[in-house]
Amino acid sequence: MPYFLAYEQFNDLISALNALGYRCLGPQVQDGTIVFDDLTDAKQLPWGMRDAQKPGQYRLQKSELNESFAWANGPQAIKPLLFKPKESLWRVERDEEGAFTFKETLPEHKPIALIGARSCDLAGMAVQDKTLLKGQYGDQQYRWHREHLLVIAVNCSYSGGNCFCVSTKTGPKATSGYDLALTEIQNGFVVEVGSDKGRDLIDSLHCNEAEAAEIAAAAQRSIDAANMQTKRMPKDNSRALRDILMNNLDHPRWQEVAERCLSCGNCTAVCPTCFCHHQTEHPTVDGNGSVHAREWDSCFTQGHSYIHGQVVRDTTEKRYKQWLTHKLGTWWDQFDTSGCVGCGRCVTWCPVGIDLTEEMAAIAGESNVVVDKKEKDS
Ligand code: SF4
Ligand code: SF4
Repeated sequence: MPYFLAYEQFNDLISALNALGYRCLGPQVQDGTIVFDDLTDAKQLPWGMRDAQKPGQYRLQKSELNESFAWANGPQAIKPLLFKPKESLWRVERDEEGAFTFKETLPEHKPIALIGARSCDLAGMAVQDKTLLKGQYGDQQYRWHREHLLVIAVNCSYSGGNCFCVSTKTGPKATSGYDLALTEIQNGFVVEVGSDKGRDLIDSLHCNEAEAAEIAAAAQRSIDAANMQTKRMPKDNSRALRDILMNNLDHPRWQEVAERCLSCGNCTAVCPTCFCHHQTEHPTVDGNGSVHAREWDSCFTQGHSYIHGQVVRDTTEKRYKQWLTHKLGTWWDQFDTSGCVGCGRCVTWCPVGIDLTEEMAAIAGESNVVVDKKEKDS
């Protein structure tokens, strides 16, 4: 049975997480957007805020509802907590005899409890689990962060103008990957349990079981959020996109999008699944040691395709093509999934408003606009 967590109990949730040793992160308004930062009091949540998102545009505005999660995702997903923008992988030290010792450098910080991850964020995390943990040589830093993360998801009650998770089947309601999932209704949240850790946490708060009317109200909020979406990925983001893309590598649309694209890499930085990175060496001043680090990179940087004396993707057209054909196409060959979870971040945070659903629609010959629901039903 789901539970009901009243607004007045939200601080008890934060206190319980702190007592279990977690550093609690939650959404807050900062610099004109909503980002995750240290959360010590429910007052810090974005009460009464709503976002207006369009291609290349994000604005916060006051909502008529005095709710804490009545907004769609901001620029961050879970990715920066698990696959950090910059992180040490290992270090090497030279002793007095000149022998080298290699040592692992695992992170050292408190476990994190993240409140407010959305269903697309959980889907992005599941994709990154496949890409970074799969196989014999899983990323040990990612694994460490993953094992030290507790996720309290919040189901969306509102979809932003660039959300299309319905067509990618990744939202707006979270179905897995969370410890607890909250749905905001009047005066509080309906809480679903997703793990033993979540069960222990909710038991410690002595919440009442949710009543039938509260459960129905929560279900309706997810339906409302789904019905707000106006955008979709052609072919429902399926494997079919792979062949469409690979059969259209000379399509004139690539050149058209390249004329608009700035090769800035914003889209890859905000994407919850992009994992391109490079590795750098940081020697100590005395020359007796060095730290080997990993830093985010992007298929939009020149250097990322530098191989044996030349830049392989030397034009913006080649870089955009690499991004889209990998994310929506050949990702299926490597990881048996699409690399897109329908969060819409790359559309919102692209400075020139390039929309990958529009680009895909132009190549696939299928619309990226959701058919009006009434029209669909009739
Ligand atoms: S490609 Fe764009 S819409 Fe898809 S998951 Fe990445 S940021 Fe979100
Ligand atoms: S598509 Fe947009 S965000 Fe991505 S590199 Fe081009 S201009 Fe930047």
